[in-house]
Amino acid sequence: MISADPSKVTAICFDRIHHPNQHKLEVARANGAYKLLPKVLKEFSSEKIIEEVKTAGIRGRGGAGFPTGLKWSFVPRNTGKPIYLMCNADEGEPGTFKDRDIMRFDPHLLIEGMIMAGFALGVRDAYIYIRGEFLHEANVLNAAIEEAYAANLLGEHILGTDFSMNLTVHRGAGAYICGEETALIESVEGKAGRPRFKPPFPAVEGFYRCPTVVNNVETLSTIPAILEFGGAWHASIGVANNTGMKIFSVSGQVNKPGNYEVPLGTSLKTLIEEHCGGLQHGSLPKAVIPGGSSSPWLTAEHYDIPLTFDDLAKAGSMLGSGAIIVMDETADVLAVTRRLAHFYAHESCGQCTPCREGTGWLERVLVRIENGQGLPGDIAVLEDAAQYMAGRTICALADGAAAPVMSLIKHFPEAVRAGIVEKAA
Ligand code: SF4
Repeated sequence: MISADPSKVTAICFDRIHHPNQHKLEVARANGAYKLLPKVLKEFSSEKIIEEVKTAGIRGRGGAGFPTGLKWSFVPRNTGKPIYLMCNADEGEPGTFKDRDIMRFDPHLLIEGMIMAGFALGVRDAYIYIRGEFLHEANVLNAAIEEAYAANLLGEHILGTDFSMNLTVHRGAGAYICGEETALIESVEGKAGRPRFKPPFPAVEGFYRCPTVVNNVETLSTIPAILEFGGAWHASIGVANNTGMKIFSVSGQVNKPGNYEVPLGTSLKTLIEEHCGGLQHGSLPKAVIPGGSSSPWLTAEHYDIPLTFDDLAKAGSMLGSGAIIVMDETADVLAVTRRLAHFYAHESCGQCTPCREGTGWLERVLVRIENGQGLPGDIAVLEDAAQYMAGRTICALADGAAAPVMSLIKHFPEAVRAGIVEKAA
C-alpha cells in the first residue's frame, strides 16, 4: 500500500505488481484500483487535476523528462477539434524494460491513469501504442480493457457521469523510431513511422493534425497516486525539480539485474550496490550507460552521482528512460559500441542524410577497427561523422547514435587505437 507519508513511500507504479492475479479487474479492485475514480470524475475539475499534476512536478518518464503538467497545459481547448491521448508503450530504447512489467502485471493501473488523464484533457478517444514484440502484454491489456468496458470504467457515461472515453491498443511493427512521439502518431495513422518536423508539437497538432498528448506508461501510471495523495505529496518525494519515484531498469554486469523503483536522487552507487548486489567483477564500474543506449556514458568518477534529470545533464549525460547498463572491468567497450552502432544504422528511418549515411559510416569504421584493420585517421573520421550527425537531423536518433561513439573515444581511446594499423614508416 502506498503510504500517505512521503518519507515512507517505497513504490508507486510497482506498489501492487507482486499481488497474484493483479492483472484481473476483480483482484485489482480488491487491492484499491479505481477506488478514487468516481470521486475524480464527479468532484474534480479538469483545471484542478492539471494543477495537481503541475504541483507534483512529475517529469515524463519516457526519456525527455518534460514536465507532464506543463505539457497538458499546452493543449488548446475549444478549437472544435478532438483531443487525443496516446500512451507511448513502445519501450524500444535498448536497456529499458520497465513499462512491460506495469502492463503485464498491473494493466488496470495504467488504464486508470489514462481515464484520469483523459478526463482532465477532455479526451474521447485514447490509444496505447505498444511495440509489436510485446504480444503477451498487448493481450493482457486487451483483456483488462474488455473488463473495464464491461464494468463501465470505459465507454459511454463512465460510472454514470457525462464523461465517455474509448481506449484502444495499437500494436506497432517493432521499429525503434516509433518510440519518437511524432513517428508514433504517424504509425497510428497507418503510415510508415517517420518523425515529423517540430514545431508544431503534438500537443497542438498531432494525431490527424489534432491536439494530442503523448505520455509514457510509467508517467500515466503515476497519475492515480498523485490525485489520491495530492501534488504536494508527490513533490516531497525525491529532490527539488526531480520529484517522485522512478523505475530504473538495470542490466549488464551486476549481480541482480532487474527493475528497481527508488526515489529520484538515489545515487548510482546505492542503486548498484544496495539493490543490484554490486558488480560482477571489481569494485568500480568501467562504464555506465545511465539513460538507455542513446545516452552518453559515465565512468567510475561518477559512481556517486545522484540519479536525477539535472545531475545527469550536468555530468554531460541524461536520465532518459532510466535504463542503466553497467559495464565492469571485463567489458569489451569497443564491441559494445560497434553493436550499438549496428542497432542505430538498422533503425535509422532514412529521412535525414546525416543520420542515414552517418550511422552506416560509424558502423563500418567500428567493424574494421574491431577486426584490427582500422586505418590511420579513423578516430578523426568517427569524430567528424558523429559531430556532423548530432543536432542536424529531424529527430534525436542521430544524436543517440553518435553518443556511444563519442563516449568511447572520450573515455577509452586506447581501445580504439588498439585496432588501428599504423602505416609502415
Ligand atoms: Fe529518421 Fe534518423 Fe532523421 Fe530521425 S534522425 S528522422 S531516424 S533519418
